[in-house]
Amino acid sequence: MERNIQAHEQISTILDRQRKTRLAAGAPDADERRARIQQVIDLLVDRADDLAKAMDDDFGGRPEGYSLMNDVVGSITALKYSRDTLESWLAPDGRDAYAPYDQLGATAEVLHQPKGSVGIIGTWNAPVYTLMSPLAGALAAGNQAVLKPSELVPRTAEVLADAVSAAFDPEVVAIVTGGPDVADALTSLPFDHIVFTGSSAVGKLVMANAARNLVPVTLELGGKSPTVIGTGADLADAAHRIAVGKWTNGGQICVSPDTVYVPAERLDDFVEALRGAYSALVPTIEDNADVVAIVDDRHAARVDGYVEDAARLGARVETAPNVPVPQSNRRRPLRMVVNPPAEAVIRREEIFGPAVVVLGYGDIDEVVEAVNAGPKPLALYYFGHDTVEQESVIARTQSGGVTVNDVMMQGGLQDAPFGGVGASGMGHYNGREGFLEFSHARSVFRSAGPDLRGEWGMLPPFTEQFRAM
Ligand code: NAD
Repeated sequence: MERNIQAHEQISTILDRQRKTRLAAGAPDADERRARIQQVIDLLVDRADDLAKAMDDDFGGRPEGYSLMNDVVGSITALKYSRDTLESWLAPDGRDAYAPYDQLGATAEVLHQPKGSVGIIGTWNAPVYTLMSPLAGALAAGNQAVLKPSELVPRTAEVLADAVSAAFDPEVVAIVTGGPDVADALTSLPFDHIVFTGSSAVGKLVMANAARNLVPVTLELGGKSPTVIGTGADLADAAHRIAVGKWTNGGQICVSPDTVYVPAERLDDFVEALRGAYSALVPTIEDNADVVAIVDDRHAARVDGYVEDAARLGARVETAPNVPVPQSNRRRPLRMVVNPPAEAVIRREEIFGPAVVVLGYGDIDEVVEAVNAGPKPLALYYFGHDTVEQESVIARTQSGGVTVNDVMMQGGLQDAPFGGVGASGMGHYNGREGFLEFSHARSVFRSAGPDLRGEWGMLPPFTEQFRAM
């Protein structure tokens, strides 16, 4: 990609100003950090309706109530948690002063200091949340930040840019808008940390850029979150919760259930239960304002293409509710793609839309093997009340997080880290782990009392006494 020189210079200037401000002022104290977080909360409250309207426009149909709940209230929840908890994260962290032998009177502690300027690149699917939730941790840890919203939601990006630049000096929080060229410019600069939310493919480009400056990265990526219907699962309850999960943002969520593994003898019952549960939530599609549209034509064609490819290869496709696929807009019913063959694209690629793969299985070991055969997913869901099987599935697989007997709930935990593993990402935000991610853990040793190394035989000339230690 050709470098956007103008964006590079613009962001470089911001970074330089942030650095100078930081060196002059030092790390902000807890009150200052809380005040900054409060400024973000206030701007979200002030512009909540504008943001919800902008997201509706950008998606070509996204219920304003949903946007308020997911993006605005979701972000405010994370910000409030950081605001109200950061004091405890900043508590003195005294350690044992053994280093590597007893030090009379010495003390040791770990200081969690801000890293500096954090670059945060967001996605279109949760355009406010993927910026503001990491920002909550970055500000709690005392950092400055530069935000870059996704170019696929230009109206939302415009409202955010307007609101952030009215509320903050760019020395504290700045925002830049634009496409991949701007994101490329940002990630090629020597930030102190970069948080990227997006696809695994672009995550690799971000990490390669950051590596040139040895900039640490948090990569919040995606994956094919497996959902296991285990022994004794209540099908109606599981179907309802999976339906809610798939309805959420039209399936355009990084932790959306992607592939559901169902005992073969219960497969047809599950498909019917899921159809019923989804249809109960949204009985119509084309003119239903409660259905989140697919964000643009390219993504609509991508999801439709996955379903058509699987059907061509012999998979059964069932629709919930049972209506034709609308031609006039990008709202879609849930397409349940039943038992697609291994070579179908939908078995490989993250769906990220209103479709789900349903696979019948004979033995739980097959499921564990199938999960472990693919890239490590962001989430794993298990339904069932056999605790031995539940623990065994969790112990024998890996994923960013797990929810048992529901879906996606692990992503909303404030007092726990959110992040991927392997191909689904690295690093975290949320909770104490998020604060630590944006802090440098600086070990401080304070010497006291006389230097006894000579008496202990640790200085030349070496004697047999040292050998005996
Ligand atoms: P994307 O990777 O296409 O784009 C994300 C961001 O990357 C955008 O802001 C874009 O401008 C920027 N970008 C594009 N090219 C770039 C480059 N060369 N260098 C640096 N940045 C570049 O992803 P998307 O389509 O916006 O989002 C969908 C993906 O995001 C899915 O895979 C989904 O699972 C994932 N996701 C993950 C999380 C999470 O928290 N783990 C949350 C939401 C979405």
